[in-house]
Amino acid sequence: MRGARLFGPIRGRIMPPPMPILDERSLEFLSHSPEQTRRLGTRLGEGVAEGDVICLAGDLGAGKTTLAQGIARGWGALQAITSPTFVLINEYRRADASMLYHVDAYRLSGPGEAEGIGLHELFTAGHPVILEWPERVAECLPSDRLTIALSWVDESRRRLRFEAEGERYVQWLRDYRKTAFGG
Ligand code: ADP
Ligand code: MG
Repeated sequence: MRGARLFGPIRGRIMPPPMPILDERSLEFLSHSPEQTRRLGTRLGEGVAEGDVICLAGDLGAGKTTLAQGIARGWGALQAITSPTFVLINEYRRADASMLYHVDAYRLSGPGEAEGIGLHELFTAGHPVILEWPERVAECLPSDRLTIALSWVDESRRRLRFEAEGERYVQWLRDYRKTAFGG
């Protein structure tokens, strides 16, 4: 995972090391497979608390839903997250009856529609929320949140950039860095 091969030129570009710690609020990681992305999500999900907002940004196929599946598993969801085609909001439960929401804002065209589906209420209801396509509803996002921007590197690799805003999320990212990467 941390082999020298990561540092070689790929498609004429020099890849960054697997985990540059950019600053205390951000972290970058190169995932080599969907399974690895899911595992990274599972570790993150283990630290999810009531009311946490996790935004997953990136193009179609970047791996947002794959990461969300891991997060839900780590949180303890009884069912696996699927990629909803028409449903914007999906609800997942844990054995203790607490709930987690997975929202796909891809088809939302602006803040009006976001309000229409009750996104604001969802963010303030106290349940964890995983949101794909946060840029579609930028006006409705809470200022404190964790954002993970995923980007396509090649067929099997994705870059994950974690960005924490607000004290809760900076602390969470600090803990995550230790448990997931030992750093
Ligand atoms: P999104 O929700 O961003 O549209 P999905 O998670 O639904 O993306 O799909 C990502 C696709 O890319 C899946 O088919 C997955 O198997 C594939 N994939 C290949 N490599 C990776 C990787 N390293 N991490 C996540 N997904 C990957
Ligand atoms: Mg998706």
